[in-house]
Amino acid sequence: MTPKIIKTEEEWRQELNPQEFHVLREAGTERPFTGEFWNNHDEGVYACRACGAELFTSQEKFDSHCGWPSFFAPLAGETVRYIEDTTMGMKRVEVRCAACDSHLGHVFEGEGYPTPTDQRYCINSVSLTLRPGPVAK
Ligand SMILES: [Zn+2]
Repeated sequence: MTPKIIKTEEEWRQELNPQEFHVLREAGTERPFTGEFWNNHDEGVYACRACGAELFTSQEKFDSHCGWPSFFAPLAGETVRYIEDTTMGMKRVEVRCAACDSHLGHVFEGEGYPTPTDQRYCINSVSLTLRPGPVAK
């Protein structure tokens, strides 16, 4: 899948603050329990902070107690893309925004969370913008 939104590193640097740039464009990770959404229970849609594409909703958000906002599924299958990540000596699956190819976090599965999918999309708060309101699905 080819990203629909392609910008140069310089353009992203101008649009994002340094922390957003580091996480979204350099695949950084915010420190756990520091982001604005890990303990947020407001209803709404979570959009990509880089491009505004709608990625997750509060209906799939659950309390994983890992320190990052966690979802058991994306809003729709095509909103995110997956890349195998073998950095840090671990085999992980990186999750990126399908529209702009920005880094969101990682997805883990089989951890035993009591959710419909037993998957945990472990997403950086700084990669997301919450659009509050009722979620229509
Ligand atoms: Zn995006």
